[in-house]
Amino acid sequence: MIHVENLIGGKFVSLDEKFEDTSPSDFSVIATIPRTKQVNDAVLAAKAALHDWSSLGIEQRCDWLDKIANELENEIQEVARLEALDTGKPMDVALNVDAKRSVNNFRFFAEFGRNLQEQKFEMSDATNYVIRKPIGVVGLISPWNLPLYLLSWKIAPALLMGNTIIAKPSEITPLTAHFLGRICTKIGLPDGVLNIVNGYGPEVGQAIVEHPEIKAISFTGGTSTGKIVAATAAPMFKKLSLELGGKNASIILDDADLEIAVPGVLRASFLNSGQICLCGSRVLVHASIYDDFMNRYLAELKDFKIGPVISEEHRQKVLSYIRLAIEEGGEILAGGNVPEKPGAWIEPTVISGLSHTSRTATEEIFGPVVTIHKFDTDEEAIEMANCTQYGLAGSVWSKNRGPHVAEKIESGMVWVNTWLHRDLRVPFGGVKDSGVGREGGLWSVGFFSEAVNICVMED
Ligand code: NAD
Repeated sequence: MIHVENLIGGKFVSLDEKFEDTSPSDFSVIATIPRTKQVNDAVLAAKAALHDWSSLGIEQRCDWLDKIANELENEIQEVARLEALDTGKPMDVALNVDAKRSVNNFRFFAEFGRNLQEQKFEMSDATNYVIRKPIGVVGLISPWNLPLYLLSWKIAPALLMGNTIIAKPSEITPLTAHFLGRICTKIGLPDGVLNIVNGYGPEVGQAIVEHPEIKAISFTGGTSTGKIVAATAAPMFKKLSLELGGKNASIILDDADLEIAVPGVLRASFLNSGQICLCGSRVLVHASIYDDFMNRYLAELKDFKIGPVISEEHRQKVLSYIRLAIEEGGEILAGGNVPEKPGAWIEPTVISGLSHTSRTATEEIFGPVVTIHKFDTDEEAIEMANCTQYGLAGSVWSKNRGPHVAEKIESGMVWVNTWLHRDLRVPFGGVKDSGVGREGGLWSVGFFSEAVNICVMED
């Protein structure tokens, strides 16, 4: 049994009021979590640390990011073990997707910071130069699907740019954030630079968003929560980054190479049990290759191993969408059942025969459920892909027309003949109801700093 504690001003603090963290694999209790309701202590600690941290040269903060990366890497098996325990994901996914990327987030921003160029704009009679100042104390709020991966994606650039942090992991998966806190105290990261508070979103998450001394909020989570966060933060003129839900399309054109498209689309459908915001939960297939594609896709699905979904509550939500699909006239081609064992398991489920405008095909399910749709022309595929309120990601599979179709998809990111192939320098984020703002490289650096222009007139 792990007892998760808050990290405030370099000290681990427990609270009398706690709740339980259960394993999605078998519903056993694995940890207790403090039920924090206010963040004043953490804000005071972060404010006290701000002057010294922001006064360090960027090179020194890069060195700190490298120290965190090195120590996390030394403990990479433990990071993966904790992530697998907390989320139920298979150990190889926890290691190769979650733990490795968490290390890389720190290492990437250390390297990126060392190569940051000063921006200068010359005029005929003056020179402008841009400096980037820290914002101050920032609030970072993350979801349960990729716990440390997504939290460290915010922590690393926030630290790089000289801010101090109040971080809140999901109450469903707090273990790796807690472990990161232990690592940071072990290596001697100055007290109060990284504070971690735990508890329920509407309580401690809301307290972070409402706190007047927290000047920016970087939030990743569901679209409906994002609306609450935006409504709370906007009147306080906080800087706001929102990475929200998705309902992404994988589009297989008639000239696709099925040798790469079938495994690629399958991975996009079901990696992490479909619980990645980027997952392709709608599969659009050209009519001329439909039978060939589907035969191979369903055959390869038989060997695709997934973990449980995150909780019983989430399983019930996913199952309600499978029932809805049947009501809407869908045909279950694979899965649809609940395996007889403890834990939040659901078979990977493939549904055809639904209109692309049905609720099942347009609302975010966030589980191992995909809908399949047939199209005849590129234009039709584009229209189908763009018909939801979301606009996060997508993929196009084609030998010749991939980029042409990709450019017409209304989403922040589109892959061609691949999926989830990430260069951490590129903009990451969504359009429409999938979010506001971008993360990654210069976009993260821009978010976590205030750009100040100094214009110097020449004599
Ligand atoms: P969620 O919105 O329920 O919770 C996200 C975080 O917000 C949690 O830490 C939660 O405690 C907190 N929270 C809840 N209410 C809050 C409030 N009123 N104020 C402040 N914080 C609050 O999301 P989830 O169920 O944990 O995650 C799944 C969702 O996240 C899916 O919709 C998925 O698409 C989305 N997601 C998006 C991205 C992306 O990069 N766009 C990445 C991963 C997940």
